[in-house]
Amino acid sequence: MSDQAAKTPLQAIKGTKDILPAEAHSWQAIESIAKAVFELYGYREIRTPVFEATELFEKGTGETSDIVVKEMYTFIDKGGRSITLRPEYTPSVARAVIEHRLYLEPRPLKFYYIGPMFRYDKPQKGRYRQFHQIDIEVFNEPDPGCDAEIVEMADTLLRKLNVTGTEILVNSVGCPKCRPAYHAELRSQAGRVEGRLCPDCQRKTQTNPLRMFDCKVDSCRALTRDFPDITDFLCEECRDHFARFRVYLDLYGIKYRIEPRLVRGIDYYTRTAFEIITGHEGAQNALLGGGRYDNLMKDFGGPDICGIGFAMGVERLLSVVALARPKEKFLYLAWMGEEAKKAAMELARAFRRQGIECLVEFKERGLKSQLGRANKLEASWTVIIGEDEIRKNKFQLKDMATGEQREAGRDETMALIKAAQQLLQGDA
Ligand code: AMP
Repeated sequence: MSDQAAKTPLQAIKGTKDILPAEAHSWQAIESIAKAVFELYGYREIRTPVFEATELFEKGTGETSDIVVKEMYTFIDKGGRSITLRPEYTPSVARAVIEHRLYLEPRPLKFYYIGPMFRYDKPQKGRYRQFHQIDIEVFNEPDPGCDAEIVEMADTLLRKLNVTGTEILVNSVGCPKCRPAYHAELRSQAGRVEGRLCPDCQRKTQTNPLRMFDCKVDSCRALTRDFPDITDFLCEECRDHFARFRVYLDLYGIKYRIEPRLVRGIDYYTRTAFEIITGHEGAQNALLGGGRYDNLMKDFGGPDICGIGFAMGVERLLSVVALARPKEKFLYLAWMGEEAKKAAMELARAFRRQGIECLVEFKERGLKSQLGRANKLEASWTVIIGEDEIRKNKFQLKDMATGEQREAGRDETMALIKAAQQLLQGDA
C-alpha cells in the first residue's frame, strides 16, 4: 500500500472526486441535453474500454506530447502487458473504428461519448486526475463545412446549457506539407534565445516547436511573442480549407476570433484547431477543445480517412453552469401496526407500477413522527394507513403543501395523485 493510501484509506485519491446525489442530477441533465443535441446532428453513441494498450496513446496522442510524457496512468498488468487508463478519447475511437471496420458502414461516421478520462495532472480547481469528457468524433469528412457544423453544434449545446460569456477561438495548424517550414522557422528563432527558454520549451524546440506556444511561463511567453504566426506559412490547400471553414462559420452567424497561437497539446492535429473558452475560470478557462486529425487513421494502419472531433470537460462545464434541480414529487406512506405496514408495502408497489414515486419506511413510528418525516423529506402527499383504514379499505390522503386531508379509496387515491402529478408536471 502506498504511503498516501496508508495515511488516508477512507478518502478519495487526490485529484478524484465523488459525485454525490445532490450534484448527480446536474450531471444527468448535462448528459441528456448533450445526447439529444448530438442525436439531432446524426451522431450515435460509442463506448470503448477505460483502459487500452499503452502504445495506442504513444502512437496516437504522440510520444512527445505532455500527456504521454508526463500525465499517463500506466501500469503493467498481471500478464506483463503495459496498460494505460485512457487520458483522452480519440485514439480509442479511432482504434474501434478500424478494429470493427465501421468505416464500411453506410451511415456517416459520427460518434459521441461521455465518460471518465485519467491524467496525472497537478490537481487544482478545474483540473482533476479523473475527470469526465463529452466527446464527439467524425470520420471521413474532409469538407470544412463539417468543421463549421461541429463548432456550431458545440455552440448550440453550450447555449442549451445556458452557458454564457464564452469565446470561440479558431486556427489552422497546417499539414505535414506546410508545417516543416514553420517548424524550421520556429527552431531558428528559438535558437537565438535558447538559453533563456525554460527546459520544457528547449525540449519542445526539438520535438514539436509549435508547443512552445502552450508554455505558461511568463518569460517564455514574452520571448515567443514575436515569433511568426503559422497563418503565414500555410500551404494553398490549408489556406483555402481555413478560409472556407470561416465562410461557413459566418454563414451560421458564429462569432469567433482567429488565434494563431492556438496549437493544441496533441500531436495528431492537422488544419482546423478550435477551443471554446470562458471568462469565468482563470487559468482553467478551456471548456472544450478540438480539431482535425487527418492522418491518425492512416498512422494507425487503418484506411486513409480523415477525422475531426472535440472534447468538453464536464467538471469545467459544471463550474460555470447552474442547473436548477426540479422539484421531486413523491408520496410518503405512513402506517400504524403490522397489518398496515403490509398494506403500505403492497400499496407502494402498486403506485410505483403506475409511475408514482413512493417512500415506505420499515421502522414503526408514531403518526406525528411519520408526518414530521414526510414534511422534512418534502413529500408532496402522505397516505395514512391505520387499522381503521384497512377495515374500511379507505385511506387518509394528505396534501402536504396545503395540509388538506380527505378520505379516499385505493383507486381514487391513485387517480387523484396521477392527476395532481400531471398538473404539477404541466407547471414545471
Ligand atoms: P484536451 O483533451 O486537453 O484538449 O481537453 C479537452 C477538455 O477537457 C478541456 O477543454 C477541459 O475542459 C477538459 N480537461 C482536460 N484536462 C482536464 C483535467 N485534468 N481536469 C478537468 N478537465 C480537464
